[in-house]
Amino acid sequence: MIKCISHKKSYPSQEIAEDALIEAHTHFDYGARSGPVNVYQCDDCGHYHLTSQGTMNARLAQLIKEGTLQRQKEAQYWASKLKRK
Ligand SMILES: [Zn+2]
Repeated sequence: MIKCISHKKSYPSQEIAEDALIEAHTHFDYGARSGPVNVYQCDDCGHYHLTSQGTMNARLAQLIKEGTLQRQKEAQYWASKLKRK
């Protein structure tokens, strides 16, 4: 993986970066006003990074609107709870 001068984690494609963005929101409760909201292509390394600025990514916004993200969170909660038993 290419090291970027921004020191941000880089992703080789927009789709992979979006997957990471969505996964981050599944694992952490960012709420509406914190955490990464979108992905962008970097001028320095040519790869994609997550950003907490700007408008929300369309895929992420759609998942939140549909409640999919919330369901994934709950599924993950129970999966980890069962594992600890
Ligand atoms: Zn970069």
